[in-house]
Amino acid sequence: MADARDTFVTWLQNAHAVEQQALTMLNGQASRLESYPELRARIEQHIRETESQAVALEEILDRYDTGSSTLKDMGGSMAAMGQAAGGMFMSDEVLKGATASYAFEHMEIATYRSLIAAAESVGDTRALSSLTSILQQEVAMADWLSDHLPDLTRQYLARDASGMEAKR
Ligand code: MG
Ligand code: FE
Repeated sequence: MADARDTFVTWLQNAHAVEQQALTMLNGQASRLESYPELRARIEQHIRETESQAVALEEILDRYDTGSSTLKDMGGSMAAMGQAAGGMFMSDEVLKGATASYAFEHMEIATYRSLIAAAESVGDTRALSSLTSILQQEVAMADWLSDHLPDLTRQYLARDASGMEAKR
C-alpha cells in the first residue's frame, strides 16, 4: 500500500524527467531547422515554456519532503520513454520531427491530465493550478502542430520539387 502523496511525488518527478527530455529534443530540432522559420519560432517558444514547466514542477516538489536532489537520481521508465521518443526527434527531416512532436505533446497531455486528477485526489490546490497551466501549454503546442502540419507538408513538397533543401 502506498501513500497517495508519495505516489503523486513520484509522478511529478517522472514528469520533470519528461520535460528535461523534451528540452533536449526541442533544442535539437530547433537548431537543425533552416527553411521553416515559423515552425522554428514555435518550437523556440515551446522551449521557453518547457523551461518554465520544469521550474514549476520543481516548485511543487520543493513543497514536499523529497527535495529536487532526488530528481538527479531519477533513472525511471519515463526517462527511458523520453529517450525512445527522442530518437524520433533526431531525424534530420522536418515532417518526421513535427509528427513525432505531435505524438510527444499528446503523451505530455495525458501525463498532465493524470497529474491533475492526482493533485485533486491529494488536495494540492496550488499544484492543481500550476499543472492546469502546463496542460494548456501542451494542448496549445499540439493544436499548433495539428494546424500547421498540412502547410508544412506542402512547403516540403514544393521545396523538394524545385530542387531546394526540404528536409531541414
Ligand atoms: Mg512539457
Ligand atoms: Fe510540451
